Amino acid sequence: MKIYNTLTKKKEEFVPVHEGKVGMYVCGPTVYNYIHIGNARPMIIFDTVRRYFEYKGYEVNYVSNFTDVDDKIIKKANEEGVSAMEIAERYINECKQDMEALNVKPATHQPRATEEIDGMIRMIETLIEKNHAYEVNGTVYFKTRSFKEYGKLSKKNIDDLEAGHRDIKVRGEDGKNDPLDFVLWKPKKEGEIAWNSPWGEGRPGWHIECSEMSKKYIGDTIDIHAGGEDLIFPHHENEIAQSEACNGECFSKYWMHNGFLNIDNRKMSKSAGNFFTVRDISEKYPLQVIRFFMLSAHYRNPLNFSADLVESAKNGLDRILTAIELLREVADKNQENMTQEEAKHFEDIKGLVKKYEDAMEDDFNTADAIAAVFEMVRISNSTVKDGSGEYAKKILEIVEKLCDILGIETTREQELLDDDIEQLIEDRQTARKEKNFARADEIRDELLAKGIVLEDTREGVKWKRA
Ligand SMILES: [Zn+2]
Repeated sequence: MKIYNTLTKKKEEFVPVHEGKVGMYVCGPTVYNYIHIGNARPMIIFDTVRRYFEYKGYEVNYVSNFTDVDDKIIKKANEEGVSAMEIAERYINECKQDMEALNVKPATHQPRATEEIDGMIRMIETLIEKNHAYEVNGTVYFKTRSFKEYGKLSKKNIDDLEAGHRDIKVRGEDGKNDPLDFVLWKPKKEGEIAWNSPWGEGRPGWHIECSEMSKKYIGDTIDIHAGGEDLIFPHHENEIAQSEACNGECFSKYWMHNGFLNIDNRKMSKSAGNFFTVRDISEKYPLQVIRFFMLSAHYRNPLNFSADLVESAKNGLDRILTAIELLREVADKNQENMTQEEAKHFEDIKGLVKKYEDAMEDDFNTADAIAAVFEMVRISNSTVKDGSGEYAKKILEIVEKLCDILGIETTREQELLDDDIEQLIEDRQTARKEKNFARADEIRDELLAKGIVLEDTREGVKWKRA
């Protein structure tokens, strides 16, 4: 299996630290809002990587964190007049709900930064002991120049970075010895959540969180560290510096990064008005379609999100699901054995499994893997209709397995039938009569989520499919 390693800028053969096992760490979201569609890309991609390793028989320890203390969380908490923990808790739950809808498997470990503070403090203490860090008035900084290989992941030259920071140095901002140094521990500000530490009350910097959680849940050397390419610098570069300076071991053997997601060929941003949460998108498309869409491109390429492209992904997925329905129908219909003619076609199908695997083993080329599934569907559609049950069953097993690796559910979501809708509308009317407006609203929202719009008119309630 070959993986493109950001560290070496080459595709490399995957050799695990421990035979038969994969330890992978994927940087998780900072939970101050619903996750956006850009957050969904690494979740889907690396979940698929995990699923492929599992298909190959590896035992995967998949660790992905929640950053549940951060300036943005504190800001949001102050705006709402609630605690930072309340904000974090709320959006962790919402995030888990979105991940489930995207069919992202729960991580083996899903640590929260605030529950790992002790470990972070120990790591910072070790860095100070080893002379890679120092404290100034309650702030602990990492001594960037003390780590000789700084810049090896992002391919940045430390002296160029220094030049870029000169203005800060001139202004003599904060108590750093060197403008390149970054924060490991910051002191408490008025009204902020804080933990006790040898340097007074405060909280950890963002980078140290991931260094500590990957060490604790996987080990000093992990197989794969992954995330969006926007995390390469400074986040991942700083993680390497901290972890390798602390542990004296290689931090991660392989670094995988997914490309950006653009909306209608433009960078997604709130100011440009093209910012979408996964929740927003789920009102327009089944998230299953979004998952399939994301896997239709190579993960390292930028991906453009547009209505046309999502629509074509929807049609593609539909073609696969329709073929699976036909296979199920034939498999159930008869007990006949495979004919010689069918055995020949089945050999072609098996050849396509090889093609699928080759694509996945070439740096997880899901686009080509999906192309192999489409070829199977084409053969199946043209041969299975009057075929034997055995033939249909065998193809079905393969197609279902390959879809499962991609995290594509092969059973269509049941659409609401007219009778069910009428029944729910009746329940809603009853609830209203009983002044149970909460229940009435709940039913309306439930229907809306399934694309049914209600209209209260003088002649009663009318409904239509959106
Ligand atoms: Zn991280």
